[in-house]
Amino acid sequence: MIQLFIPLNFLGFVYREVRRAVADVENMLGLLNRKPAVTDSDNATDLVVHQGHVVFENVCFGYSTERTIIHDLNLEILPGQKVALVGHSGSGKSTLARLMFRFYDPSSGRIKVDDQCIADVTQSSLRSHIGVVPQDTVLFNDTIFNNVWYGNTRASDADVWRAIEMAHLGEFVRQLPKGADTLVGERGLKVSGGEKQRIAIARTLLKDPPILIFDEATSALDSRAEKAILDAMEELSRNRTTVVIAHRLSTIVNADLIVVLEHGRVCELGTHGELLVSGGPYAELWQMQQQQESEKLLKK
Ligand code: ATP
Repeated sequence: MIQLFIPLNFLGFVYREVRRAVADVENMLGLLNRKPAVTDSDNATDLVVHQGHVVFENVCFGYSTERTIIHDLNLEILPGQKVALVGHSGSGKSTLARLMFRFYDPSSGRIKVDDQCIADVTQSSLRSHIGVVPQDTVLFNDTIFNNVWYGNTRASDADVWRAIEMAHLGEFVRQLPKGADTLVGERGLKVSGGEKQRIAIARTLLKDPPILIFDEATSALDSRAEKAILDAMEELSRNRTTVVIAHRLSTIVNADLIVVLEHGRVCELGTHGELLVSGGPYAELWQMQQQQESEKLLKK
């Protein structure tokens, strides 16, 4: 019996580890939808994160040599800061996140995390320190509990529950007849976009990375779902360097720093208040979105 138990137990361990790796890859692909185009250098070392200080230094990048997308970009993200990337569609927000995750290397310049150039460290160590909450998480055909637990298969049940509560999922889970044992994914309960993203937040809370990339959903959620996501995000970004790819400015008014991108260049930097006062492109974008919101309300 023991002989049988050990291999089965081992297989179970392998299975869980593979699922965890898949969870990370799924997160990466959810955001990036690309295969990595980079390799580890021969003498790559593991990234050591003390603070989560991220610096873009004179970064230039293009997906092809014919077209430069990011132009000589400099940006410093201080440890624990919450930074929002905003700008029109195609301005380069997701590209910056892809570069930070090292899905591509800059054509010139460099990106550093705690003074280590990310091109010099192993990709696995870089990615293990960065959590990604994609716009549209693909859930496994498994229970809600396990979908969260894959964030860290060494976590205890109590840790998983803590993450579920912190992600503001507790109430939702408790009203289901089978609670956290409810099956989700293609063959299980259909969950809304907002609930899915909160499951991804709970999974990332359990992973507990020092650096976080949050890709805000483009489609507007109803105000209750939006509030639940924002509250969950607040928990997740606490004491972590956080980069939010923002589409709705109303969700990032409290960011420590807002970076406005235009054609792959930083055109403005500041807090929400500062940028409104300066009356530049951010203020214009804000006015436009406020107007769209009030038109939507009038139509209801
Ligand atoms: P959105 O708000 O629509 O998501 P974004 O600000 O995130 O836009 P990016 O996705 O970073 O913008 O795109 C910046 C530019 O790079 C765009 O002109 C886009 O067409 C181009 N681009 C993005 N991905 C690729 C790719 N894989 N290959 C070639 N060009 C790309």
